[in-house]
Amino acid sequence: MTRAGVIIVGAGQGGLQAAISLRQQGFADPVTLIGAEPGLPYQRPPLSKAYLVDGNAEALTLRPQSFFAAKDITYLPEAVVEQIDRPARQVVVHGADGPRRLPYDHLILAMGTRNLRPPIDGLDLACDLRTLQDAGRLRDMLRTERRIAVIGGGFIGLEFAAAAGKQGHKVAVIEAAPRLMSRVLSPLMSHHFARLHGEWGTALYMGQPAVGVDGGGVALADGTTIAADLVLVAAGVRPNTGLASEAGLTVDNGVRVDASLRTSDPAISALGDCASFPDPRSGRHIRLESVQAATDHARLIAARIAKGQDATYAAVPWFWSDQGDKKLQIAGFAGPEATEEVVSDGIVARLDAKGVAAVETIDKAGVHMKTRRLLSGHASVSLEQVKELAAA
Ligand SMILES: Cc1cc2nc3c(=O)[nH]c(=O)nc-3n(C[C@H](O)[C@H](O)[C@H](O)COP(=O)(O)OP(=O)(O)OC[C@H]3O[C@@H](n4cnc5c(N)ncnc54)[C@H](O)[C@@H]3O)c2cc1C
Repeated sequence: MTRAGVIIVGAGQGGLQAAISLRQQGFADPVTLIGAEPGLPYQRPPLSKAYLVDGNAEALTLRPQSFFAAKDITYLPEAVVEQIDRPARQVVVHGADGPRRLPYDHLILAMGTRNLRPPIDGLDLACDLRTLQDAGRLRDMLRTERRIAVIGGGFIGLEFAAAAGKQGHKVAVIEAAPRLMSRVLSPLMSHHFARLHGEWGTALYMGQPAVGVDGGGVALADGTTIAADLVLVAAGVRPNTGLASEAGLTVDNGVRVDASLRTSDPAISALGDCASFPDPRSGRHIRLESVQAATDHARLIAARIAKGQDATYAAVPWFWSDQGDKKLQIAGFAGPEATEEVVSDGIVARLDAKGVAAVETIDKAGVHMKTRRLLSGHASVSLEQVKELAAA
């Protein structure tokens, strides 16, 4: 009997990795990778960093066209999966030739996220930064001198602010929370980066939500107006889960998966930014927005499908952000209850009831790598262990 093989919905970082890993693991049945965006799969991290400066789109491509033929992977760009028919094990795909049904034995959901658009008057005047197209548009706008307002003091907004400031533009960052990157970073590191951005010439407005955007700029809740002729909204994301919930899969801040990354339907797995998975450390369901999570999820799912290895996902999360000439790296994942301790200059540990949950470093790649190894090798890591490692 002909096997239908695996269909992957979403050709981003995680979806592509799933296709690559399936072939690496010796999977011989058909693999179909379906992506809504045009062109070849590409990496997003440089869009708010190097690409704004060098404009080198080719450098972002993850695999050349020839790779797909060589590995017998059917890649369908500019094609949107509109429906999952679980009883028939088929998806409805809408591409250039209209809708058609494709069968699957296993389906992998790798649909990523979409930008959150907070309810701010006139926000349709603001730009986004998620896709290569968005970044190209912003790069064109940065060719003329601009007064820029960035709504959102998270990683992407701050990376863009630093890159634009370095090019000589006048930049303001507006953050509704009282500190920068508050969702994932310790207060100590937040304050350190606030100082750095200030030194780089960025005006920071924290603790005040933006309430309106018009041709003249951005209005804040306290009546302050920030003059701007380029407004970027980088106020967080929402997981793409519509397809999964319409198909009756369990969705809760992402497509909910178990420790093997299976959804509530064992014939469907989910990975990366759109998946809510059990954090091996706390047992709580979390959703990460990182290349590491997307690619490690993909490898685990591929090994299960290709070789029947039913492993439990246990990878230690890690993340990086390049802002100005600084590289921030985070090893591990700290929940909201975590406290903070300075380890040494440029190194902060986050602690919870089990010990060190995460270590944040600035420009300390060696310490970051060592803490990643330490955290993955031990169920419980003490502050002293991190101090010793940092001093070595
Ligand atoms: C500007 C920017 C900078 C970033 N910087 C960093 C960084 O420094 N470090 C880091 O670790 N992470 C960074 N990230 C996050 C990182 O890019 C994501 O975590 C990663 O891409 C997640 O991979 P994914 O496969 O889950 O989703 P994505 O790579 O987002 O891919 C999802 C794809 O699915 C497609 N899709 C959705 N629904 C459908 C459908 N129904 N049919 C067909 N296709 C569909 C989407 O169009 C999209 O192309 C950054 C992200 C952005 C936007």
